[in-house]
Amino acid sequence: MNEFDLVILGGGSGGYACALRGAQLGLSVVLIEQDKLGGTCLHRGCIPTKALLHAGEIADDTRHAAEFGINAEFISIDMLAVNAYKDGVISKLHKGLQGLVKSRNITYVEGTGRLVSKNQIEANGVIYTGKNVVLATGSYAKTLPGLEIDGTQIITSNEAMTMDYVPKSVIVLGGGVIGCEFASVWSSFGAEVTIIEGLPRLVALEDESSSKQLERAFRKRGIKFEVGVKFASATKGPEGVTITLENGATFTADVLLVAVGRGPVSANIGYEEQGISMDRGYILVDNKCRTNVPGIWAVGDLIPTLQLAHVGFAEGILVAEEIFGLNPRAINYDGVPRVTYSEPEVASVGLTTAIAKERGYDVVELSYDLAGNGKANILKTAGSIKLVSQKNGPVLGVHMVGSRVGELLAEAQLIYNWEATADDVAPLIHAHPTLSEAMGEAHMALAGKPLHAHG
Ligand SMILES: Cc1cc2nc3c(=O)[nH]c(=O)nc-3n(C[C@H](O)[C@H](O)[C@H](O)COP(=O)(O)OP(=O)(O)OC[C@H]3O[C@@H](n4cnc5c(N)ncnc54)[C@H](O)[C@@H]3O)c2cc1C
Repeated sequence: MNEFDLVILGGGSGGYACALRGAQLGLSVVLIEQDKLGGTCLHRGCIPTKALLHAGEIADDTRHAAEFGINAEFISIDMLAVNAYKDGVISKLHKGLQGLVKSRNITYVEGTGRLVSKNQIEANGVIYTGKNVVLATGSYAKTLPGLEIDGTQIITSNEAMTMDYVPKSVIVLGGGVIGCEFASVWSSFGAEVTIIEGLPRLVALEDESSSKQLERAFRKRGIKFEVGVKFASATKGPEGVTITLENGATFTADVLLVAVGRGPVSANIGYEEQGISMDRGYILVDNKCRTNVPGIWAVGDLIPTLQLAHVGFAEGILVAEEIFGLNPRAINYDGVPRVTYSEPEVASVGLTTAIAKERGYDVVELSYDLAGNGKANILKTAGSIKLVSQKNGPVLGVHMVGSRVGELLAEAQLIYNWEATADDVAPLIHAHPTLSEAMGEAHMALAGKPLHAHG
């Protein structure tokens, strides 16, 4: 019988999380995936980039070893070995995930699926009928008009992930999360990097103070960038790729990485034919991820919410629980933790100062400089923790820059999501010496009793 409680199309973060939670609740589930279980995040996104960034960190640590009294010499990057390390991580996680799906008795189908009616998906000539259908077909790397991806000189993150050499020079078109992460990796690997960003600053969705600090740190690392200027054209020649900007400036490099955002995978899969409401290819849903067609749900990068793996997980779980009847709470997207894993990292949760003001809050800001934190000095990292708070009210946003600050989001997101005030957090004891102490210190300062803070 090919009838299930849940028919899920796409086995990435959103789809497989929905499958695992659905099966855990006792629902019968079929998960249809045309490529590899785990999707973008595991095979072409989060995991491989973070492995590359970690390899880059080791390269930088080796270069700077003498500053810590260690005699070591940086010789070169062996990309084949870096890729073997990265692929080893992916492969282990992939096997683990396959085992998990199997152990939950999920029917796994390898094949390209198509929505053929309001409750049916066809794959490999077989029809799978569901009481509910969950669409989780994810996203693809976009490019710009006139900019053709050739896979060798003009590439997207897909090809950047598997390169077997370090280019001498790279232009990164797009200074968002993915662009800044690759800029960071390549710079650590020894390439000359220039980022071109059309918006006025790098990681423009972050608080302005975080962008400024990242820009300062990148400048210090020798990563060049042009912001607030748009791409006009690109040409290929023997000396590499030359791009021209709208202001007439030109840049030439071995490789051009196009990191201008990701678009939804929603064309030619039968979505329009079933009357599903869409906007620019994104499937529109309510706050429980329901589409306008009863029984059809959509999650992950396919819907216009934050394009993050943990958002996909949360949406997949939400849908399974809603279908089962647990009536889960809708997701508060402001409370989703966000990290750019460059060196230094940029991490945040909650509202930026600008958004908090836009929403009418009486805003108080507090910046705690990591220079006052023991562990940050040990690590030789610079940065800060900035709190955006409602005057005499809860913390509305936490914005951090510095090595490893992504790890501090665990606490920051509790503070934001539990609507804690500075007075709630200030008495909590943070272990010394950790970076997390800076979180405590920032709240102590905001509560009017700074400890290790000057001025
Ligand atoms: C370079 C890069 C780095 C990233 N880093 C991070 C990070 O550090 N942290 C983070 O949270 N997020 C990160 N992301 C984003 C994250 O990868 C995505 O948000 C996440 O993968 C979205 O999950 P999804 O399930 O919606 O889609 P996907 O993971 O894209 O999965 C969709 C799946 O559907 C399958 N599919 C599509 N069409 C069909 C069809 N017709 N039939 C069958 N199967 C189909 C695809 O093969 C794919 O496996 C990164 C992304 C990129 C590109």
